[in-house]
Amino acid sequence: MDSIDEALDEIPLPPYISAEDVTFALRAISVHAAEQWPDGPRCRNDRAPHPCRLHRWGSRILTMRGLTDQQITTMLAEQEAARP
Ligand SMILES: [Zn+2]
Repeated sequence: MDSIDEALDEIPLPPYISAEDVTFALRAISVHAAEQWPDGPRCRNDRAPHPCRLHRWGSRILTMRGLTDQQITTMLAEQEAARP
């Protein structure tokens, strides 16, 4: 991970994570999923090296809510299944 990029460009987190923030975070993570490129994983949405800024923001939100990786995976699958 590029620490300079991280320091300058990290998206600020809200002081309190609401249920709506969790929904946005889940959506960000699924939209900004990794895609395999010859030089390594990249975001399938913006082509930035994975995890991109929005993906990192989403996972920080979910971590702040106290969700485990397993819970996040389950919620992502549920969100995927609920999509029309
Ligand atoms: Zn992205």
